[in-house]
Amino acid sequence: GGFQSMGLSYPVYKGVMKKGYKVPTPIQRKTIPVILDGKDVVAMARTGSGKTAAFLVPMFEKLKAPQAQTGARALVLTPTRELALQTMKFTREVCTVAAVLLLITCSRVHSVCVCVCVCVFQLGKFTGLKTALILGGDSMDDQFAALHENPDIIIGTPGRLMHVIQEMNLKLQAVEYVVFDEADRLFEMGFAEQLQEIIRRLPDMRQTLLFSATLPKMIVEFARAGLTEPVLIRL
Ligand code: AMP
Repeated sequence: GGFQSMGLSYPVYKGVMKKGYKVPTPIQRKTIPVILDGKDVVAMARTGSGKTAAFLVPMFEKLKAPQAQTGARALVLTPTRELALQTMKFTREVCTVAAVLLLITCSRVHSVCVCVCVCVFQLGKFTGLKTALILGGDSMDDQFAALHENPDIIIGTPGRLMHVIQEMNLKLQAVEYVVFDEADRLFEMGFAEQLQEIIRRLPDMRQTLLFSATLPKMIVEFARAGLTEPVLIRL
């Protein structure tokens, strides 16, 4: 089946078409229907497989429209990766045009996180959902401002997110959709403790997705504790 047979609402489908995705990649074909069905998922997928859209498309579908609500409803945790300056320039251009609350005020670039954010903007263009990007190295003031805009989606790195949770008493009680992107890298970077801290602050009633290129024992244990009867998807 293609994207048209997934039962996506028009604003989400339009985003996919405008992004130029004609057919779903294998990981998208396998994961999107399972996520739409409300299941927790552990997906083994590498960068390049189309994994980002595999969790963003159903995320938009679940969130539907912005809500004057009590807090963000989706949380995406990604690792940090520094990239060349031209990437930052590109991202800045894309996002200046964008109404997305993307804040790149530092000289360090976190490509995974920023790529996800750009993808959110492009794919979710027609949903009207607001995103805040919370990165280590960025100005805290800008991040406070972004969070005061009542974002529907928070994309962040675990260290800075924990910091913001503590500093500005950010509550995650409205979060219903959680993604651990590149989980193996999150662990390699030493974020295990922050991830546990963040999970403790999330409501029990939530859908949790974990994407990872590899599944070492540590991640399997993390998934066992933080996910509910996850469906394992591998290519
Ligand atoms: P990712 O694995 O999420 O980093 O995606 C790798 C690249 O594939 C990105 O440039 C995506 O925009 C692109 N991509 C994702 N899904 C599709 C699709 N269904 N058709 C064509 N390109 C895609």
